[in-house]
Amino acid sequence: MSVANQLDCDVLVVGSGVAGMSAAITAASRGLKVVVAEKAAFYGGTTSRSGGWLWIPNTQMAKALGHVERPDQALTYIKDQAGENFDEKRVRAFIKNGPKCIEFFTSKTVLQFDMPLTFPDYHAEAPGAAQGGRSFVTRPMDAREMGPLLKDLGPVLPELTVFGLTIGSGKDIIHFMRASRSLESAWYVTKRLTKHFMEVLRYGRGMTLTNGNALAARLAKSAANLSVPVLLSSPVTQLLRDGERVTGAVLEQQGQKIKVNARMGVVLASGGIPHDEERKKKVYAHVRSGHQHWSPTPESNTGDGARMAEAVGGVFDDTLQQAAAWTPMSLVPRKDGSTGIMPHFIDRAKPGVIAVNQDGKRFTNEANSYHDVVQAIVESSVGKQNSFCWLVADHRAIRRYGLGFVKPFPMPMGEHLSNGYLKKARTVAELAQKIGVSAASLDETINRYNENAQYGRDPEFGRGSKAYNRYQGDALHGPNPCVEPLKTGPFYAIKLVPGDIGSFMGLKTNENGQVIRTDGSPIEGLYAAGNDAASIMGGEYTGAGITLGPGLTFGYIAANHIADQVQVKQSAPAYLA
Ligand SMILES: Cc1cc2nc3c(=O)[nH]c(=O)nc-3n(C[C@H](O)[C@H](O)[C@H](O)COP(=O)(O)OP(=O)(O)OC[C@H]3O[C@@H](n4cnc5c(N)ncnc54)[C@H](O)[C@@H]3O)c2cc1C
Repeated sequence: MSVANQLDCDVLVVGSGVAGMSAAITAASRGLKVVVAEKAAFYGGTTSRSGGWLWIPNTQMAKALGHVERPDQALTYIKDQAGENFDEKRVRAFIKNGPKCIEFFTSKTVLQFDMPLTFPDYHAEAPGAAQGGRSFVTRPMDAREMGPLLKDLGPVLPELTVFGLTIGSGKDIIHFMRASRSLESAWYVTKRLTKHFMEVLRYGRGMTLTNGNALAARLAKSAANLSVPVLLSSPVTQLLRDGERVTGAVLEQQGQKIKVNARMGVVLASGGIPHDEERKKKVYAHVRSGHQHWSPTPESNTGDGARMAEAVGGVFDDTLQQAAAWTPMSLVPRKDGSTGIMPHFIDRAKPGVIAVNQDGKRFTNEANSYHDVVQAIVESSVGKQNSFCWLVADHRAIRRYGLGFVKPFPMPMGEHLSNGYLKKARTVAELAQKIGVSAASLDETINRYNENAQYGRDPEFGRGSKAYNRYQGDALHGPNPCVEPLKTGPFYAIKLVPGDIGSFMGLKTNENGQVIRTDGSPIEGLYAAGNDAASIMGGEYTGAGITLGPGLTFGYIAANHIADQVQVKQSAPAYLA
């Protein structure tokens, strides 16, 4: 191999999302010399465009709010959900280290979180589930604290902003949804927007970082405080070995190869396979059958970690129940001609909204988690040319809650109608014709739904029957926060297609985060965390934050395992001084 240059470090981290940065910060704080290589021109990966929610049971934050779990309660839940893919050793490592990891980050770095009083697990009726105390969100951050680091922070998804303002997934979203109905919320939104516009005038952008953008920023700031270099536009292309041990990697910078000697280990955190087209054809069942799939994750997440690990004996676990964290998406025509991919996290649960399949029939409890709803869309599209369904709402619902990229009143809808994103019709029959389903079928579906909905009931699919449904519905709406007849025309529809917000299938690892071979033996010097490692939830989506929480924790576990292998002085070595 001809290399232009050489770099020496203790730990090489591949990828600058939550898992990579967690490993980098932990290792650096243990006195190791760390280098982070990032393929994209920005740092933060999917993490920087995410909701910024983490799922970790038994933290001090939870205890302070009175959420005290029974011993092994979280283990029982994950075991129930993961089924045959339950990996007890890794799950125990997560549950044991998660609270310590949060303690470390909140006391030694600039990472901070806020926990709501309640946020039910997605299957809150299952054994071991909790009604709150496990999901918490990254605290917003003033972008001015980032200094020069701000310019390289991964951008948010434009579809999740209003006038360029990212609505925080904590109290922001509640106030924005209620702004037309509550004076308090209207005042909150006015203040928030005014501050945003003032910042845009002064700095050319909003300066309140929220959600995953705040998480990626806080991680980058923490890494910078420990003098960890993050090399942008530097894809790692190959692992290097000495015998069976991984000793470093080759990365590329501006067409030149650089050899990185990593004395103690390489941590793969390249964000999984959401844009690995070959692998997706094998493990995404609907893609295998020729159906389309969409992902708003960064296009740089092309499964490099998995491929490089396989080349040195690692194993990709394709046995999980579901290959990725599915989310229904709508496709938003952008002004520049490109297509935005808009995740539908909460609108499906609002009263006055239902989903119908390509035959004009309801097919699932729309208020279930995004992961569950996509499985239902795919199942209901078997035998069709593509997987999709329609989200249907009446006028009252769309103006009250918005729908997908369409914002609630008083925001205008005209552009969404003229570019075809939103279909509108005076009658149900006309809407059916516009979305290409049988008018008789859609009419029958809505009439049947309305008959029971007037009493707040949904005997067919049980909207509002689960804690998670009700949490995402409208708490101010009774008797069922998820149910209201669709009766006030005009009627509206948006097409929903299957998508993902990250992959679940990934490399087999052990409880230390080490990549393992088929026989279960660890590959010395090689670790994987975040979506490069197979999800500990076995392919289920169990609660808000079940990729970022384990991603942060296993980055921390891997780095501590590396540091524990060697005698490291606790005081910072000379090169960090
Ligand atoms: C809209 C949205 C909302 C979400 N909300 C949540 C949420 O609230 N909670 C939650 O738990 N999950 C959420 N997710 C999912 C979550 O963001 C991801 O699962 C998580 O960020 C993955 O973290 P990671 O560190 O594994 O990878 P990433 O954050 O994707 O980082 C991987 C990085 O590796 C880089 N890379 C790839 N290949 C190479 C290479 N060869 N060399 C060097 N670098 C490389 C990539 O460019 C990328 O920057 C959301 C996702 C989306 C899209």
